[in-house]
Parts: sequence; structure tokens; C-alpha cells
Amino acid sequence: MNSKALFDKIKSELIKFEEEAEAEAISYLILENIYQISRMDILIGKEVDENSEYSEKLESYLIELKSGKPIQHIMGRVEFYGRQFLVNSNVLIPRRETEELVHLILEQNPDLSEKTIIDIGTGSGIIPITIAKERKESILYAVDISSAAIATAKRNAQLNRAEIQFIHSDILSEDLSIPKCSIWISNPPYVRDIEKNKMHTKVLDYEPDLALFVEDNSPLIFYKRITKIAFDNLLNQGKLYFEINEAFGSEVQEILHNAGFGDVIIKKDMQGKDRFVYGTKSIA
Ligand code: GLN
Repeated sequence: MNSKALFDKIKSELIKFEEEAEAEAISYLILENIYQISRMDILIGKEVDENSEYSEKLESYLIELKSGKPIQHIMGRVEFYGRQFLVNSNVLIPRRETEELVHLILEQNPDLSEKTIIDIGTGSGIIPITIAKERKESILYAVDISSAAIATAKRNAQLNRAEIQFIHSDILSEDLSIPKCSIWISNPPYVRDIEKNKMHTKVLDYEPDLALFVEDNSPLIFYKRITKIAFDNLLNQGKLYFEINEAFGSEVQEILHNAGFGDVIIKKDMQGKDRFVYGTKSIA
């Protein structure tokens, strides 16, 4: 069958319950996954084999999608920065913004040889694993409070042949044992409970609350805590990078300033929203 025709057929099914751009993105993913065909081949309408195994798989994907399950959970994997990662309901599905965060860090740190980097709230491990692959000489640590998330991140490290030291720990607890590092990174939970009503039901039903939400009365709890521990455990000229809630750019900037960080920058994401804050520890 012509893959472009199949693409149009799947898209017309999905568009009954998804927005057009999403329906299109999912249609590509499904075809790529079932028929091992590239996006380019679909665009030019390359012929694909039709057999009952494929059509049954397609049928079951459509049923699950209709029930609201995210395509990433149906396939059990996602692409992040050009690599494959396993995902499940214990970890966040990687967001485009986090890809931008990793890109920013890599761009600003072309040489990380012998440098120690730590990611707080690592989830599926996308951040440290990508950095380990892109900057082979760096030494990576990753912390998470969830043992299920760490188990997923460990599998992802194996899958991508990256060496990461995992630390199962609650960053808010007092007895933390964390190595001195050159770079601290975190994309902590930052969605306030009051913002739940603007979130997609797919996110609410399938992604872990633990990774997403903070209480309305302490939305910056992780930023305050991580900034403090980062400052105490950063080498001089070390850097701290955060992904943030777009509502709190200047507040997070101030937290870093007050802790003693210099050159604190708020950076926007591709959608023009305040999304990243970073700074450097420089002591005279
Ligand atoms: N950006 C994510 C979302 O809006 C939230 C990520 C986070 O809380 N760290 O779904």
C-alpha cells in the first residue's frame, strides 16, 4: 500500500479526537514505528507491505490512542536529542523545552573533559545521558526521589551505553550526600496546583504528579533548595542551570542572585516564554 495514503487514513482517524498538528505528528510516529519507514519515504508515498500483523498493530494503536493514552506510552519509547529513551508512567515524557535546555548547556560548554555534572530530578535520565554521550569525557551524576524513575533511567543509560552514577535521594532532605560538581542542572516540578486546569488530560492521567506539581503556596521550593545546595557544592566558576515555570523568571533569577550567583540570565524558549535561568558561581 502507498504509505502516504495510509498516513492520510490514520490522520483522518486521529483528527476526530486530536488537534491537527498532533494528529499529524502521531501519524508519522505510528508509521515509522510499525513499518520502519522514514518520514521522507512517507512524504514521497513509498509502498509498504500490508500484512495482518501490521494491520492488527495499527488497529490496537488506534484503540489505545482513542482511549487517551499518549503515543509515547503506547510505543514505550521516545526520541530525545536524536537518541531513543524508554518512558513509562513513572517518568515525564520529555518536552521540547528540555531538549532546548540540553542544547543550551552543550553550546555553552563545548569542553567538559574531567568535569563533574549533576542533574537533580532526572526522571528518565534524558539530561545526563545526552550530556554523557555528547561530552564523552564528563562525569555524570543523576539524582531522583523516585526509585521507579531511577530504574527507568538506569535502563536508558544501558540502552544508550552511557555511564551515570545514580543517587536515590530526596533533595529536600537534610542528610544529603552530594559530590562537588562543576555544573548543576535541574528541571524540577514547577506546575502549580492552580494551573492543573489548563493541562491536557493526557498529562494528568498518565504522567507522574511527583514530577510535575508543586503546592500553590510554595511554588519555588525546589529552586530555593537546589540553588542553596548547588552553591555550597559548586566549584568556583561552576554553573547552575534551571528549567522554570514561565511565570517565575525574575523570582528564580533573584533566588540565584541572593545565593551569590553572578551573571544570572533568564532565557526564553522557542515559544518566547521565560523557560531557563542560569548563573555562574564566581568568588573573588
Ligand atoms: N513543562 C512541563 C509541562 O508543562 C512541566 C515540567 C516540570 O514540571 N518540570 O507539562
